[in-house]
Amino acid sequence: MRQLIEKTVFLIFMAIFTVLPAMGWDDVGHKITGYIAWQRMSPQARENVIKILRAAPEDSQLGTFYMAYGPEPEDTRKFEYFMFVPTWADVIRDRAFDTRYKKHHHSNWHYSDTFWKQVNWKIEPLSGFEEGGQAVAKLMEFDALIRNATASNAEKAIAIAWIMHLGGDIHQPLHTSARVTDTEPKGDQGGNLFLLSPVGTARENQLNLHWFWDSIVGRNIPIEGNTCEREYIEMLGKKMMKDHPYSEFQNKLNLGKYTDWQKESFAYNNTVVFSPDLKRNETPSEKYKKNAFKLAERQLTLAGNRLGETLNAFFGTVTPAVSVVP
Ligand SMILES: [Zn+2]
Repeated sequence: MRQLIEKTVFLIFMAIFTVLPAMGWDDVGHKITGYIAWQRMSPQARENVIKILRAAPEDSQLGTFYMAYGPEPEDTRKFEYFMFVPTWADVIRDRAFDTRYKKHHHSNWHYSDTFWKQVNWKIEPLSGFEEGGQAVAKLMEFDALIRNATASNAEKAIAIAWIMHLGGDIHQPLHTSARVTDTEPKGDQGGNLFLLSPVGTARENQLNLHWFWDSIVGRNIPIEGNTCEREYIEMLGKKMMKDHPYSEFQNKLNLGKYTDWQKESFAYNNTVVFSPDLKRNETPSEKYKKNAFKLAERQLTLAGNRLGETLNAFFGTVTPAVSVVP
């Protein structure tokens, strides 16, 4: 009976969130990486990054999200703005803002999939498939752009926003994976084709594994009635940083080695993500859900630390060659 109730609650919960599109860590996940990155950043890096972001091209509307005035102290406004920045790449999916959408949105930048087959619980990499997304290539490209002394602050602003977003996305293991099976001969699109709903569920109510991972934080620790979003993200970020102190990652940051970040995240697909107890068309077991959330918390914390240190390396110690003018 208890199992039945748990299952029902899970399905109801999933149904509520099913309308959200699958697009990488959701808003909550990306804001947590922003929060953690900000904690790692030096005052100089913070200052430079905010100034550069505010110089973003007008059609991106990236700079307009900064509250230049307001009741909050300036430091709080900067911090709040910075937590928003990793979500910009998802915000621009909104087709209602036509120019911004056409110029800045790129759906295949959000992942870098390795095609593979799971044979006896081992990874068998496959080749000869269509390109599996641009996340790693774009991270490298934007990294180089930021290091380029002739790049403008407007260009660097866009580069920072993408690095903050894609750096988070590729720590979601399913943003690095296209598992090939008899059911999905062209790859499962990062688990988007791996359904957790029972066979015969109407299309609009179908839930898939990719969605399960993207929205994992909010499902495990939902926001409470009176809490404002900033407090909620702060609470989550603090919890994760306490459970995973910086010392855990200090020697594994591999700054600038985006291919390594992808490989490391991809490896979890054969262990925690496609674990032996995960069954198609079934609600994941309690054990699966627990392990998944544990890994997600680790990956988000690692991503936040890496991104914070990446920005420190770019902007923390040297004054950018291009004059920093908002
Ligand atoms: Zn994304």
